[in-house]
Amino acid sequence: MGNTVYVIGHRNPDTDSVCSAIAYARLKNMLGETDVRPARAGELNAETSFVLDYFGVPVPELLADATGLDLILVDHSEIGQALPCVEQARVSEVLEHHRIGDLRPPEPILFHSEPVGATATLVGEYYFARSITPAQPIAGILIAAILSDTVGFRSPTTSEKDHNVAARLQPLAGLDVQAFDRRLRRIRTAATLEQSAAAIVGADFKEFRIGDLRLGIAQVEVTGPDALATRKKEILSEMQAVREAQDLSQVILMITDIDAQASDLWVVGECLGAIRRAFGQKDEHAIHLPGCVSRKKQVVPRLEAVLGGK
Ligand code: MN
Ligand code: MN
Repeated sequence: MGNTVYVIGHRNPDTDSVCSAIAYARLKNMLGETDVRPARAGELNAETSFVLDYFGVPVPELLADATGLDLILVDHSEIGQALPCVEQARVSEVLEHHRIGDLRPPEPILFHSEPVGATATLVGEYYFARSITPAQPIAGILIAAILSDTVGFRSPTTSEKDHNVAARLQPLAGLDVQAFDRRLRRIRTAATLEQSAAAIVGADFKEFRIGDLRLGIAQVEVTGPDALATRKKEILSEMQAVREAQDLSQVILMITDIDAQASDLWVVGECLGAIRRAFGQKDEHAIHLPGCVSRKKQVVPRLEAVLGGK
């Protein structure tokens, strides 16, 4: 009997990392590799806990250190995202959908990286390619992972293949995909609301340059237009602290309501007046942008038009 091979996703695991590991390990088991088991590199988030509980799938084993282990990596190929000491492990396969990372196993391995919306899409495709029908809970967690990573097929990373694989999994899972997507989003919002102001501002924070200005723009996804209203004072003062600490001209929080296809911008910084005049204000710090959900494609170009001459 060989060593146990653990299929594992990245640290700070998301639904795609955990569910892809479970489903890929299960596929290997069904193909006769009985010593393959799923694992995880950190605590589950609220969404993933709900998904495993909903489909009655056991939580994978938690690993803290990769030294000496046999691993298959899913959903990452960067050493910095991997289980600690991954360079002291034997990695036999990588299956993922990001840019190719810096992990360089010394031996030849199967390395499958493809620009699709979720690793779960590739795992689902592996099942179909081998004519193995995933059991109902496995089909369910794969759809959940695709919905999670693609934000219900709305993310610009979504590919044709994500749609196709999800459509083949749907009857096996017996799931109302749209209703389930709404449920996942409500869970993510509820989890966001429980976080500290620093975590909300820092979770998805990117810096942009417009002319001589350096702006920080954070984005958070919510359900309901006033989901963060009661936290506003605390979050604005956190944004101000980030602005001062990083010496930015502006810090903007983009609060996106996917159901309404709209965003509010909360703004602190020296160009608040100019931004408010250009976009029209909701109240002192907030701007409402109907039809606007993309930071990169919708908000940044409009800010460039307003602030570019400064
Ligand atoms: Mn991931
Ligand atoms: Mn992923």
